[in-house]
Amino acid sequence: MYRLLFISGLLVVLYVLLRQVVRGFKNKEIGDGGASVDHGQMVEDPECHIFVPRSTAVIEKIDGQTYCFCSKQCAVAFQNRQAG
Ligand SMILES: [Zn+2]
Repeated sequence: MYRLLFISGLLVVLYVLLRQVVRGFKNKEIGDGGASVDHGQMVEDPECHIFVPRSTAVIEKIDGQTYCFCSKQCAVAFQNRQAG
């Protein structure tokens, strides 16, 4: 029965994530095209592919590209991977 609980929990998490993504898109549409970044924006960690709020993300500039990570460890791991 634990598996059922796990699956329903996963579904709830997925639903919440999806709703946030949809809301993010809607905000972008309504947005006045301003240059400022809103605090609620979710960004994807290119290392572990987790979504984190930009306000709490670890932002690193690598080869002129800006990346957002969930943690310093992910930033280091990603840079090591890029370096080969
Ligand atoms: Zn990460």
